[in-house]
Amino acid sequence: MLSVALFEAAKLHAKQTMKTNIIINLQHEAVHQWSDCELEGVEFLKFPHRHIFHICCKKEVKHDDRDIEIILLKRKVNSFLDEMYPKTFGDMSCEMIAKELATVFELNYCSVLEDNENGAEVIL
Ligand SMILES: [Zn+2]
Repeated sequence: MLSVALFEAAKLHAKQTMKTNIIINLQHEAVHQWSDCELEGVEFLKFPHRHIFHICCKKEVKHDDRDIEIILLKRKVNSFLDEMYPKTFGDMSCEMIAKELATVFELNYCSVLEDNENGAEVIL
């Protein structure tokens, strides 16, 4: 049986070591291409092609009471994508998109999947 003192010590340890992230998930429709693609079997990637990019962003918060409001963060990321990449990501890969979002929004995690299938993640 767990003693009260041990339980309090465990709670204190958890409080000191726990890290909390907020998570937002969103989708962005755009085309991109890999103009320099020379890989046999995927030559079609040279040409602009459409994806629904599924994006997951995680950002650390310092307390549990809306340190960062998730709806507002999601609106900011959506607005950024709509302004900067309304129709195309150009030659950007999933890795590049994830790194840019992680940098701009000071995220500690970002994943970008093409059509919710394949992609990349950045962990900071
Ligand atoms: Zn693609």
